Amino acid sequence: MAAVETDRDAPSALCSEFLNFSAKDTAAKWLQVSNLPKEVYQHLACYVPKIYCLGPNLNPQNEDLLAPLLLQSPLEWYLCGEEPSVGLAKLEQNNQPSQLCGHVFKVGEPTYSCRECAADPTCVLCMQCFLGSVHKEHRYRMTTSGGGGFCDCGDTEAWKKGPYCQKHEPNISDSSQKDPLANLSDEMIARTYNVFSIILKYAVDMLTWEKEDELPEGLEPPARGDTYYCMLFNDEVHTYEQVIYTLQKAVNCTQKEAVSFATTVDRDGRKSVRFGDFQFCEQAKSVIVRNTSRQTKPLRVQVMHSSVVAHQCFALKALTWLGQIIRYSDALRRILCQVGLQRGPEGENSSLVDTLMLCDSKMWKGARNVYHQLFMSSLLMDTKYKKLFAIQFAKNYERLQSDYVKDDHDREFSVTDLSVQMFTVPSLARMLITEENLMTTIIRTFMDHLRHRDLHGHFQFERYTAQQAFKFRRVQSLIGDLKYVLISRPTEWTDQLREKYLEGFSAFLELLKCMQGMDPVVRQVGQHIEMEPEWEAAFTLQMKLTHIISMMQEWCSSDERVLIEAYKKCLSALTHCHSGFTDGEQPITLSMCGHSVDTIRYCVSQEKVSIHLPLSRLLAGLHALLSKTEVAYRFPELLPLSELSPPMLIEHPLRCLVLCAQVHAGMWRRNGFSLVNQIYYYHNVKCRVEMFDKDLSMLQAGASMMDPNHFLMIMLSRFELYHIFSSADCRKRYNRENANKDVVQQNNTLIEEMLHLVIMIVGERYTAGVGQVECFDEIRREIVHQLCIRPMAHSELVKALPENENKETGMERVIDSVALFKKPGVTGKGLYKLRPESAKMFNLYFHHYSRADQSKAEEAQRKIKRQNGEDSVLPPPVLPRFCPLFASLVNILQCDVLLGILGAVLQWAMEPSGGHWSESMLQRVLHLIGMGLVEEQQHLLSSAEDNDTNFNFTLKISRPGEAPANTPSILALLETLQNAPHLEVHKDMIRWILKTVANIKTTRECTASAPPSDSSGHSQEEVSIGSTVRDKDKAERKRKAEMARLRREKIMAQMSEMQRHFINENKELFQQSLEELDPSTSSTLEHSPSSCDSTLFCVGPRRWRAGGSDRRQVVTCILCQEEQEIRIDGKAMVLAAFVQRSTVMSKNRKRPPHNPDKYDPLFMHPDLSFGTHTGSCGHIMHSHCWQRYFEAVQAKEQRRQQRLRVHTSYDVENGEFLCPLCECLSNTVIPLLKFKSIYCFLSEQPDLSQWLNITSLQMKALLSAHRKAKAADADGVDDMDGVNDCPPPDGFKLDYTPKNPYSSTIKEMLTTFGTATYKVGLKVHPNEQDPRVPIMCWGSCAYTIQSIERLLVDEEKPLFGSLPCRQDDCLSSLTRFGSACWTVSSHATVQNHFIRLLAALVPDPRVENTPCILDIDMFHLLVSLVLSHPAVFSLDSSGLSADTAQLHFLHLVTVAHIVQILLSSVPEEVQMEQESGGAEREEEEKVCMFYNTLRTHLGSGLREVDSGWHLWCCVKAGILPYLRAAALFFHYLNGAPAPPELHISHLCAAGSSEQRGSHQVCPAPQHSRVHCSRSSSVHYSTISYFRFPRESNHLIELPGDYSALINQASSFTCPKSGGDKSRAPTLCLVCGAMLCSQSYCCQSELEGVDVGACTAHTFACGAGVGIFLRVRESQVLFLAGKTKGCFYAPPYLDDYGETDQGLRRGNPLHLCQERYRKIQKLWRQHSITEEIGHAQEANQTLVGIDWQHL
Ligand SMILES: [Zn+2]
Ligand SMILES: [Zn+2]
Ligand SMILES: [Zn+2]
Ligand SMILES: [Zn+2]
Ligand SMILES: [Zn+2]
Ligand SMILES: [Zn+2]
Ligand SMILES: [Zn+2]
Repeated sequence: MAAVETDRDAPSALCSEFLNFSAKDTAAKWLQVSNLPKEVYQHLACYVPKIYCLGPNLNPQNEDLLAPLLLQSPLEWYLCGEEPSVGLAKLEQNNQPSQLCGHVFKVGEPTYSCRECAADPTCVLCMQCFLGSVHKEHRYRMTTSGGGGFCDCGDTEAWKKGPYCQKHEPNISDSSQKDPLANLSDEMIARTYNVFSIILKYAVDMLTWEKEDELPEGLEPPARGDTYYCMLFNDEVHTYEQVIYTLQKAVNCTQKEAVSFATTVDRDGRKSVRFGDFQFCEQAKSVIVRNTSRQTKPLRVQVMHSSVVAHQCFALKALTWLGQIIRYSDALRRILCQVGLQRGPEGENSSLVDTLMLCDSKMWKGARNVYHQLFMSSLLMDTKYKKLFAIQFAKNYERLQSDYVKDDHDREFSVTDLSVQMFTVPSLARMLITEENLMTTIIRTFMDHLRHRDLHGHFQFERYTAQQAFKFRRVQSLIGDLKYVLISRPTEWTDQLREKYLEGFSAFLELLKCMQGMDPVVRQVGQHIEMEPEWEAAFTLQMKLTHIISMMQEWCSSDERVLIEAYKKCLSALTHCHSGFTDGEQPITLSMCGHSVDTIRYCVSQEKVSIHLPLSRLLAGLHALLSKTEVAYRFPELLPLSELSPPMLIEHPLRCLVLCAQVHAGMWRRNGFSLVNQIYYYHNVKCRVEMFDKDLSMLQAGASMMDPNHFLMIMLSRFELYHIFSSADCRKRYNRENANKDVVQQNNTLIEEMLHLVIMIVGERYTAGVGQVECFDEIRREIVHQLCIRPMAHSELVKALPENENKETGMERVIDSVALFKKPGVTGKGLYKLRPESAKMFNLYFHHYSRADQSKAEEAQRKIKRQNGEDSVLPPPVLPRFCPLFASLVNILQCDVLLGILGAVLQWAMEPSGGHWSESMLQRVLHLIGMGLVEEQQHLLSSAEDNDTNFNFTLKISRPGEAPANTPSILALLETLQNAPHLEVHKDMIRWILKTVANIKTTRECTASAPPSDSSGHSQEEVSIGSTVRDKDKAERKRKAEMARLRREKIMAQMSEMQRHFINENKELFQQSLEELDPSTSSTLEHSPSSCDSTLFCVGPRRWRAGGSDRRQVVTCILCQEEQEIRIDGKAMVLAAFVQRSTVMSKNRKRPPHNPDKYDPLFMHPDLSFGTHTGSCGHIMHSHCWQRYFEAVQAKEQRRQQRLRVHTSYDVENGEFLCPLCECLSNTVIPLLKFKSIYCFLSEQPDLSQWLNITSLQMKALLSAHRKAKAADADGVDDMDGVNDCPPPDGFKLDYTPKNPYSSTIKEMLTTFGTATYKVGLKVHPNEQDPRVPIMCWGSCAYTIQSIERLLVDEEKPLFGSLPCRQDDCLSSLTRFGSACWTVSSHATVQNHFIRLLAALVPDPRVENTPCILDIDMFHLLVSLVLSHPAVFSLDSSGLSADTAQLHFLHLVTVAHIVQILLSSVPEEVQMEQESGGAEREEEEKVCMFYNTLRTHLGSGLREVDSGWHLWCCVKAGILPYLRAAALFFHYLNGAPAPPELHISHLCAAGSSEQRGSHQVCPAPQHSRVHCSRSSSVHYSTISYFRFPRESNHLIELPGDYSALINQASSFTCPKSGGDKSRAPTLCLVCGAMLCSQSYCCQSELEGVDVGACTAHTFACGAGVGIFLRVRESQVLFLAGKTKGCFYAPPYLDDYGETDQGLRRGNPLHLCQERYRKIQKLWRQHSITEEIGHAQEANQTLVGIDWQHL
């Protein structure tokens, strides 16, 4: 933020004047004057320029202080006539607020809509109202608001029920119809009226003011200086970057300032970028204009006089003030509405409200926002004036829309966006339709703006420019308005409404006329199309209109008179369109099977055809609706059916369907993708309701009015198949057409498509009006057919179903009746599975199946049938009956032409196919025959009620063919085919057909007497026929099952044999390795496992040891597959490893990062704020194999980066690579080492105090030797002050340099891993000489063990035996590496580290900078001591044991830790002491004793305690993690196998680990003395800081309901741009911080790069690794470093077990604990980076994202 710099003196100069000002006096004066407007203007003219705009940087603090005092206060005094605070309070008290909530939504705030009760989806509730409403128990939808719009609570028209929440429930006592003005005195009304009209007029004048240098009359300032602003305005053309760049040049600002300017311009719509004299500003303006005018129109810049800007600023404030003041009283609000809508002097449409609206597009964003807000809180909140405003809005509608289309601001900043607030109110919408003819206005305005037409007046979008495209997008918002108007259907019609609706309908037909036949295509032959034609615009239009068309039909369906009128209008429009479609052509005559018909000559493959036929389709829809009405049922003669020409009706839809068939047949390949796309959308769920479905209906309607034979012949002709089936010898097709294989292939596909179309025309009866169904039957059937493909998630089903204008599919009402829900696990989604009984609805030729769907569904259904042991035949389902108008369609099945076609195909199938017929063709034919049979059965069943049954399909198919004579009948053909070997796949179906025929015949024979068989056609007889077949099947199945069982048994036997063998072999191996002891250490036999395996000590002189050389370990290199034994002097073997900084265990995230160059990491602070974690995938390689591999990766990456400039998921520059086997991200390797042979000494070992004495002498000697060496190095002077010569004790050789036992490759790898740990852990450049290298290695070892110990506790797993191999291998090599890493460092350095470490426990006055023991993490200390000790120990030859030393270290550090625990856990209050018995008792007393010893040394700082119970509890709990970690450490260090009882549970493991250290928890007194002498340096302030045990860190608690998070995020404001809403609020799941992500405002610089808030945060909070929840997107974000990231499924699920990434569906979301725990586990085990790596490898697009900007 730019500080206040230059204008400090300005206010102070005015101060005295301001102090003398009295608002009361001014108001009193105003009450006296005759010309109040003039007086008020004078006041404003005087003060406004003195408060606002006094310098380059506006000073909101001054303005906010002075403006209320000098400007608003007198107005309020005048208005109230008394002290405003009193007056306004009175007003508020008397107010009877309306029941509307009217809460205006902020950007990102959650909104709720009830899917059961909302009148339409735009009706929403705020969170408060929602929680107090009945709808929270209903099915609701939750979304985030885009800003604007208000809560509809209390609006009775918005809700079908429950319109009020508890808060807005009206009092029954008061009548809400009362005029609010009745409560106000006349004087008050008059005064309010005066003030409001002056102020509103002033504000309107100023906001619409266009002169830059002048002011309206009466506002000229008394003194006028040469002070100007250079004002930059927002546009949507220029990018942020362009503006920032230009500003830097034009006004000489820094990039940061430029960003801030640009942000403000984008937000408020304008911003002054320069202040000064006219010249100065004008100069900046010209630079900006010049710089931005090259490609586009220049940025808008104005040089404005400061007083103009000042008044505009105050005008905005004044509007805000008005908005606030009317909140006190509905009466004030009504007066303001009255003032605003009062007609001005210029007559119609000249009120202040009109003026504002009409100037909308000229104002800047900020001004628009303010007055829109005011409109919403005034006009739209007052029921009376809302109506008047709506009328004005409708009157200005055309003009407003035109302005909007020309304007370049988004719609949310346009006044036209208010339409939703009025048009969706049903009563207002109806009033606007009848009184303002709104429907027609909207449609006409839309048509006016869409001027791309071709010669025939059709829309044409070909080659339209970018600007036209832009305009086209904006015009589409008009369709939205039309949708709002139509969204609620009228329940009652008035004559006037009918008239205006039909007028609107006519206008709509005009629109559709322009679409009918647009974008026609012609088949391309020869060469491929040159340029893909534009098709998207037309489809966009179609898609946008889809709901409108549906709604138009619904309106029509609600009134019979309207329906018939609309039908007539639509028919005449269609006739008009098609007039002359037969022109110029001689009709041709088709004849077949003794029938003939005339038709036109037309070939889809040769002439123009269009996929856009909205008029035909609308008519088809209306026809189906008519068919449902009573008129159609009773008096069809009243309908205009006689005017219909069926061939004309079917012509265009048929062409369109033929086009699709031909595209499928590959005939239109040369027309390119645009056609393929169009065909795709034609069938797509978004369009099909008003495209494909309606074409099918239209064919059904047309065919129902025609002779079926005629219909089929015309169809054949359009499919260009007529010549095949009409020829006399069509049954011998295979003999003739050998000529062209392609043509044969095409024709086969066309025949298949044609047969499919016949199946659909006869079989699709689930449209209400076509068949006798309800609308739920339709949706139920859709769902069944989707689920027949496979079980689906809720969202998948929703996507597959068409949504209505309310975004509802109606699925919820029927889903449970056809499907079962299965809940999801930790991953995946919940699934719906079809109920078995619903499968009988399955229709293989369901019209919405694509070919792929069809074959998947067929396979799935057959499989299920087979699994249930049923016949796998899929016969056609039983269908509902047709409505009367469509009833004749069934006759298509038994008409001669169809039977002729069926017969021909069956005849072809007699011979094996040589490409002349296809399996699918035959399958369709069989299906059609099946349909005929099912239909006949149905007719027979219903014949009892309905005796006229002239449907006799069996009779027809039994008759021999007519022409040529004596061809076999269809039935005869089928009987022959039944045994054809080449028709194996169709056998089931043919058998089913023959059985059903037999069954029908029997039924017909005994028609009167026998009861009808069951509906599915499985009669008794059939069962008996089938039973023999089935028995045979059964026997066969049984035999197969038996065979399978035998096979399984055999395999099992084999396997268990192998297993036994394997175990035996391994046992031998195992024992061998145990017994194979090195002869050189046979003296240590008494410590071998056989002698003491009952106590497997892992530390101390009695520890378990495998002897000098332990088991031979042989491993295989994953790269060269060679085996290799691990040996000290052998080839180095390495594990791929990943080292990372970690804060997972941090107890202090506020600690600033260390300065990497200065930081001394020797002592880890107990807050564990930063650690270094090492992980590995456990894959082993030769070091030289790995080096070669890594070099190859490096080389490849360099080439790739040069060539493609693409990133990879790993950063080679930083040493990263992917494990060659598992692609796990790695950045170094750990060498595998063997245990070192440590000699065991039988001599008596010193006890602790003796040992301490010896060690202390050794340290003294070492220290002085070091200092001497240092001094000698420095300048050669031998004796310096303070350097006393201390002689080393016996057997301690200061000048001894031990031999490094390792081979050169192992040494190299030791250095590699050490350097990598150092580099990553400290974030420094690699330097193998740095003394901190070994420290970092020990630290990483300690940290990794600690984190794994925590992980095991959190996962409730035992300490030993539960770690996966990879972690086990990693830990053991890490510890062994730790014990060896000193060999490659300077020995003196390591010795020095050891001295300092030891001094922390045993004070040594010569060692400086020793921290207080409360500031040391004891486990880190233990590990460092043990691992650095060999460097000292190697000098000793006196016979001391290293094991003894380890044991002493363990004792020392443990005692120190107990001291820490005791000091940090003394309770404030005396707690209830409890008695415990036995062994516990003894421990308690010891603790108490120890504590008292501490007290004597520390004095009164510690409270007195009487018993040790509490202390003992604290010690027991506090020390557990430490002891467990120590057990792990020594286990891996010394290689002792864990005793089996430790595998059982973690608690028990901890207990035993104490014993294994042969260590008693309570220390002997002499130990404690050591510490207490040091304790004086304890800082009390830190005592309460750490309590042990440290709890494991958790990710933050998340609320159960996701909307709580949204609400929290919506009130979050960007911390950097003063109170602005953040666009992408993002929650850190580690610490709970909310961040303003992905935005310029919160970018900061990190290591020289601009990074977003999230990336910056990860560096402080997670050492570079972050886990976030993007609240608006409902998406988890993982970040690592500056370049890596991925999205992860959020832990929130809806009721259907699905996540909603992007919050698109809006189902309520609830926290799924299991999934959240899974994320937490990833974090705790340091796998986030690895997870990102895998995600990026799987999805390369993730690599390209600029993660650092998030
Ligand atoms: Zn509300
Ligand atoms: Zn409410
Ligand atoms: Zn509800
Ligand atoms: Zn190898
Ligand atoms: Zn691996
Ligand atoms: Zn955080
Ligand atoms: Zn921000």
